[in-house]
Formats: sequence, C-alpha cells, structure tokens
Amino acid sequence: MKIAFIGLGNMGSPMARNLLKAGHGLTVFDLNKAALAELVGAGAVAAASPAAAVAGAETVITMLPMAAHVNTVLFAEDGVFAGLGAGVPIIDSSTIDPQSAQAFAKATAERGSAFVDAPVSGGTAGAAAGTLTFMVGATPEVCEQVRPVLEAMGKNIIHCGASGTGQIAKICNNLLLGIAMAGVAEAMSLGEKLGIDVKTLASIINTSTGRCWSADTNNPMPGVLPGAPSSRGYTGGFGTDLMLKDMTLATQAAHQVKQPVMMGALAQQLYRLSSQHGEGAHDFSSIIKLYRADEA
Ligand code: NAD
Repeated sequence: MKIAFIGLGNMGSPMARNLLKAGHGLTVFDLNKAALAELVGAGAVAAASPAAAVAGAETVITMLPMAAHVNTVLFAEDGVFAGLGAGVPIIDSSTIDPQSAQAFAKATAERGSAFVDAPVSGGTAGAAAGTLTFMVGATPEVCEQVRPVLEAMGKNIIHCGASGTGQIAKICNNLLLGIAMAGVAEAMSLGEKLGIDVKTLASIINTSTGRCWSADTNNPMPGVLPGAPSSRGYTGGFGTDLMLKDMTLATQAAHQVKQPVMMGALAQQLYRLSSQHGEGAHDFSSIIKLYRADEA
C-alpha cells in the first residue's frame, strides 16, 4: 500500500520503519531534515510538504506533538487537505484532546474522507518492537479498513467507538496512571520514613490491594525493582513532561464537559512542580523526589 507518514519523531520514526519492513511504500514529511534523511536511508521517499506527501497515497498517518501541529499539517496552504484524494483515510496517532479529534473528523468528512483518531500506548520501545496498542475512534467500517496498516505497527488494535473515543480512552488511562503513580510515591515514601524496608513494603503492596502497574512494574522507589527507571536515575521510561501533557489534556477535557477531576487536578500540579524542579525529561516516577526531598 502507498502510505504517507507525517511526523518522524521519537514515536513516528520507528513506526514508519515498521511500515517499510512490512513492505509498504512510504512517502514521508517532517520539518526536521535529519529525521527525513534517516527514513530515506531506510527506504522511504521524502516529500517537500504534507500536500506533496499525500499525493497518490492510499492512507495518511500523522504522529505529531499536539493538536495545534495536527491543525497546521491538515489546513496549511501546502497541507494534507491540499493534496488528499477522496476516500483516503487519515490516521492520527498523536495524543490530542478528543474535541479537536472530533473537529478534525468533521472537516475531513466534509472533504470526502475519514479522520481516524488512533493514539497509542507502549512508548518508544513498543513503537520500535511493533507492539503498540492502538485505541481507535472511527466507524467500525473505517476501523476495519485501516486495521491492516495498524497491525504493521502494533499488537492490539482496539476499536473504542465513534470519532474521539480513541483519545478519550488514552487520556482517561493516563489520568489514572498519573494519579496512581503519585499515590504509590506517597505510600512508599511514608513507609520509608516510618522505618520499614522499602523492598518488603513493595512486596506487601504487590500482593495486597494496593497493587498496580506503578507499584509492581515501575515502582518509583530506587532499588526496589532493578529494571525500573527509578533504579537507573529515572532515565528512559515515560517523561514527566509527556505525563504532564496528558494530565493537562485530561483536566482540560474535563473542564469542557464540567466534570470534576479533583485527584487528576492535584496530580497534574504535582507533575508541573516536578517538571519545574528539573525532572521534565526524567521518567514520571521521579515525582517521588517531591516526597523524599530530605533523602536527596
Ligand atoms: P516528537 O516531538 O519526538 O516528534 C514529533 C515530530 O513531529 C518531530 O519530528 C517534529 O519535527 C514533527 N513536527 C512538528 N510539527 C510538524 C509540522 N508542522 N510538520 C511536520 N512535522 C512536524 O514526539 P513523539 O514522542 O514522537 O510523540 C508524538 C505523539 O505521540 C505525541 O502526541 C505524544 O504525546 C504521543 N505519544 C508519545 C509517547 C512517547 O513515549 N514518546 C508515547 C505515547 C504517545
């Protein structure tokens, strides 16, 4: 299949490589010339604009930082809509707010094509391994139409419902993840201060009702899990600033529908503070440093 791929960053680049490996023809565009050159080296064709990239494409994929970037890539004079063929689906795997995804879907439908929100979980490791989970918001027919393309980049393709529901699933999951990590950080720090061995405490939590991914797979306390970012200076993993972005999307979406998210709002502020303390590029489990200030 002829695929246009726009946005070759930490996620987009390995995803695009997996499409090439699966035998698809790929035309790529990014503002970053070095990222473009790397993909050309892997077998893709570089385009000079989004409009040029999508000319003749049978599927379009975008993987961009935020809704504002998606908006530019779609609507600019040399943007996707300037070159898109009728009936060619646009798969947007960026994490953006559901309301923007729905607005983009409406604008795309008016041009005779479908806009699919398909944010991912699995991080850069999942992108490289081709094991991402895609949360798909589209009609069942369009979801089936794009499934083979998504299967070249991911392991789980989940149809969440109509347009926007993929983004809803993504931001609700990450809202919970952010809150859960802050909770585990709080409990582990209290235990440490009260004098229990932190490995013993973690093993109790992980066989008790406090068990969750933030405790048993990505425990924020250094030394508890040898393979976790907390045991290597919080390098690798999922950055605090990316978590902050997702928490902000969730709290803003909640605001728009007048839904209270008290825990999420507090956790969002904790990640903001953590970022301000220089942890933006570190794994989000480094939030525990706010609780262990006198240990540092
Ligand atoms: P990134 O910043 O590494 O890459 C974004 C790319 O988009 C860059 O190469 C940039 O040059 C390009 N870009 C920006 N504006 C452009 C434009 N107008 N035209 C063309 N290219 C443009 O970001 P990333 O880590 O790859 O993340 C992409 C999306 O995936 C984000 O929405 C992020 O929240 C989400 N996500 C990231 C992760 C992760 O672990 N990194 C995990 C899940 C979801």
